[in-house]
Amino acid sequence: MKADIVIAGSGVSGLYAALNLPRDKKIIMVTKDELERSDSYLAQGGICVLKSEDDYDSYFEDTMHAGHYENNKQSVDIMIRSSRDVIADLERYGVRFTKENGEFVYTKEGAHSTPRILFHEDITGREITSHLLAAVRKLDNVTIIERFTVADIIETDGECRGVVGFNRDGDMKSIAADYTILATGGIGGLFTNSTNYRHLTGDALAIALKHGVKLRNPDYIQIHPTTLYSEKHGRRFLISESVRGEGALLLDNNGNRFTDELAPRDVVTAEIYKQMEKDGKPYVWLSLKPIPEETIKKHFPNIYRHCLKEGFDVTKEPIPVVPSQHYFMGGIDVDEYSKTSMDRLYAVGETACNGVHGKNRLASNSLLESLVFARRAAERISETYSVTEKKDYAPNADDYKNYKAEYRKAVLDAIERERKKHEQHNDDA
Ligand SMILES: Cc1cc2nc3c(=O)[nH]c(=O)nc-3n(C[C@H](O)[C@H](O)[C@H](O)COP(=O)(O)OP(=O)(O)OC[C@H]3O[C@@H](n4cnc5c(N)ncnc54)[C@H](O)[C@@H]3O)c2cc1C
Repeated sequence: MKADIVIAGSGVSGLYAALNLPRDKKIIMVTKDELERSDSYLAQGGICVLKSEDDYDSYFEDTMHAGHYENNKQSVDIMIRSSRDVIADLERYGVRFTKENGEFVYTKEGAHSTPRILFHEDITGREITSHLLAAVRKLDNVTIIERFTVADIIETDGECRGVVGFNRDGDMKSIAADYTILATGGIGGLFTNSTNYRHLTGDALAIALKHGVKLRNPDYIQIHPTTLYSEKHGRRFLISESVRGEGALLLDNNGNRFTDELAPRDVVTAEIYKQMEKDGKPYVWLSLKPIPEETIKKHFPNIYRHCLKEGFDVTKEPIPVVPSQHYFMGGIDVDEYSKTSMDRLYAVGETACNGVHGKNRLASNSLLESLVFARRAAERISETYSVTEKKDYAPNADDYKNYKAEYRKAVLDAIERERKKHEQHNDDA
């Protein structure tokens, strides 16, 4: 197959990149699973926005503080400054955010000093992603291929010239392209307890490692403090931080509060682990009692229904919660235009690291960051476009017999190496 631009991944970052690329370019978008099975669909809490100029300093400071001041300030500035325009664009695509009397309603999550998060019930990700997907489906220049797993990039003369991967029948195919955008999401599938879809296994990171493409901080992994405790296998169900933002309390096994529920995620997680140890339990409790029943049913209908299905009525009783892997702050190192260290190769969304989140992501900054920097990648590709000679490339499937296990190990090893490096650095400091 041949295209002008190939995009791996159909979450918000891949979709928004496609929507912002020139209509005269032939784009192939491949995705590992079904289209709707991306983490973007799962986002509950919402998406941050600069609600007024007066909030700039506070929003900037909250993002930096949550990120332990390791954030790239320029990226943070770009994200905040672009936020209103991106939200207006989403509304043009038909996305509906909760409003009262025509004005946005803002909610709050941990480490935000003021409410600045837009939401649609507790299914904001579904609302945004389904509208972007509908818009992409209407584009004549985009071909979508489901159940196509990118297993490698094509490297020629040190540049990226497309991808190779396995289609739904298990046949290996190549897609030659002038530009490649990796939008393959996070790494939760590598962890036993994660809120992410299981098929998100950081494939793009392993591919980057194989080709000497730079990674940044692969050990910066966010653990979400509150996911519904379950002994079942599979993805863990998130209890959005905005539930705590609206007043829910964390309780020990005796029903007593033990921490500030709205401290940054890494701090709350550490406190929960300590409490679990003290209580000798694999969970702590979260009580939604302080939230009026009407608010629970209106703002958090998805959480309410899911917990009910699992045997808990959150309007009447506390639920057991446990921290789980949730988000990947590290990733493929990119500049402020989402370009990787390899020419013609871009990375966007959770798989990329432009430094916005520093060491720890501020809640509800990731959808925004994914959108802002996906658009910048598309704009940069458009501005600098040059054509390559697209040759037929015949990949050898034998070279990829054990690639899944090898890729998994490569990513986990890279995380461990970086973790040790950071530990050493902290000891020396
Ligand atoms: C439960 C949950 C709640 C969240 N809540 C919020 C929130 O309220 N606010 C917020 O800002 N963020 C939230 N997030 C984080 C946010 O949803 C993600 O960071 C963001 O959606 C990532 O978008 P993405 O496009 O990078 O990746 P994804 O949406 O995960 O998409 C990745 C895509 O890549 C595809 N893919 C993966 N590997 C390959 C491969 N090898 N070949 C081809 N395709 C591949 C996948 O199939 C998928 O289509 C939440 C995340 C979770 C899990």
